[in-house]
Amino acid sequence: MSDVLVAEDLRKTYGDTAALSGVSLSVDAGEVFALVGPNGAGKTTLVRALTGTTDPDSGSVSVFGTDPESADRQRLGLLPQSFSPPARLTPRELVTYYAGLYADSRDPDEILAEVGLAPDDRTRYENLSGGQQRRTCVGTALVNDPDLLFLDEPTTGVDPAGRRALWRLVENLADRGTTVVLTTHYMAEAERLADRVGLLADGELAAVGSPADLVAEYGGPTRLVVETDDETESAASASASASADALAGDDFEVERTDAGLVVHGVAPEDIGRVVGVLDDRGVAYDALTWTEPDLEDVFLQLTGRSMAGRSAADGSEPSGEEIGATGESSGPAVAGGDR
Ligand code: ADP
Repeated sequence: MSDVLVAEDLRKTYGDTAALSGVSLSVDAGEVFALVGPNGAGKTTLVRALTGTTDPDSGSVSVFGTDPESADRQRLGLLPQSFSPPARLTPRELVTYYAGLYADSRDPDEILAEVGLAPDDRTRYENLSGGQQRRTCVGTALVNDPDLLFLDEPTTGVDPAGRRALWRLVENLADRGTTVVLTTHYMAEAERLADRVGLLADGELAAVGSPADLVAEYGGPTRLVVETDDETESAASASASASADALAGDDFEVERTDAGLVVHGVAPEDIGRVVGVLDDRGVAYDALTWTEPDLEDVFLQLTGRSMAGRSAADGSEPSGEEIGATGESSGPAVAGGDR
């Protein structure tokens, strides 16, 4: 596979803020590459530098072997994070308008069907749901059938059903061979869609790799969390201690917490054995939760910070784990093509 996008040592500061502190990456043809990081990590600045919509202070970018300014616009698509198309136009009008900007463009009917808006293609943008609005915007970025498509936070502010529809859309594009570079602060989105992930924190790439490789290298062991029964605290505590000793003797790493026990490194086939030890020692527990490490654990391990915690403190969107609870988008704070 050949690199369609190469960046070397990109740096960009705004006043005292270092938005990019030496980012290097390459993206192969046909790859889905996700830039993941909390708000303020530098994702949008990086996308803007990669697409030639902002000049880095130093470093270089090559798109299809040339600088972004000279790259063939016919082969590039960009959905910026912030763009509000005229709200009184319909998806059909918007897609048709953007298609008209290119010498060679796709059939709007085909695009409207692809983004799942064929039934609502004559509804004004302002009356669409958040997910439909964002899909309309993705549609405007597809009119020239790009070989390389940048999607900056394509699902932020979109409800869970709309998010899943966008995921399927990206998967279909990838199946057709489109190279996709997307940014997200939803770890679950990156795990689902990306061939490779770049974890961005404070303007630096902390790691790049496939989700599976990153989790295997940095995610740490699986965990079985045993929440012990509060009402029988002292008895539970004594039996939990005995269980902890027994499990440690069985080569498990056991951590005592206020809520109970965390048993590290429990393979799925070992869960029954651990539960047997708990039962033998008479541990009363409220809940057992078995979790595999994920990209969130990788981010925590590499940066010492939790994406979720940071996002919550910012008052921003929830992390991947909280996606199911996300409400409907409040409006079109997102969209379209600033080309
Ligand atoms: P992300 O997309 O990951 O949320 P950004 O690239 O938007 O991150 O921002 C990275 C950092 O650069 C943040 O601290 C942000 O406040 C700052 N920044 C971005 N754009 C500007 C700008 N035009 N002027 C001043 N500061 C900016």
